[in-house]
Amino acid sequence: MNTGLFKRLFKDKNLRMSHPRFLIYQELLGAQNPLSPQELYQSLLKKRRKIGLTSIYRSLDLFESLNMVFKIINGSSVKYKLCELKDHHHHIICRSCGHVGVLNFCDISSWSKKVTESTGYQVVDHQLNFYGFCKKCKPLQK
Ligand SMILES: [Zn+2]
Ligand SMILES: [Zn+2]
Ligand SMILES: [Zn+2]
Repeated sequence: MNTGLFKRLFKDKNLRMSHPRFLIYQELLGAQNPLSPQELYQSLLKKRRKIGLTSIYRSLDLFESLNMVFKIINGSSVKYKLCELKDHHHHIICRSCGHVGVLNFCDISSWSKKVTESTGYQVVDHQLNFYGFCKKCKPLQK
């Protein structure tokens, strides 16, 4: 998600683009791999930007509610990755290095239909994560 898109999203939702929020966004933007709130805190501190952990947690919660970041829970560790795509998408997470890949397709309409048939629910949303090993960690056998 580029800076223009990020700013527009905040404007559309009438949210204030505070300095800490923007700094946290920038950290996530520059990160290759997902970051934990503590890692964000440390890397901001290294740049002489002291933002409290509470404020980092709150910003990340906000980003998550806006579908701007993807939250990866692995046991007791929680990390966040900035989403490149604004539209609905899924992720695949490497179990070895933690790299997150983006799936820009979603093909579960027949599954949704089955859910409706078996539960009577009208499906409005879903979340689905994939896990595996990336090309670097486990090259496919030829
Ligand atoms: Zn994403
Ligand atoms: Zn990997
Ligand atoms: Zn989907």
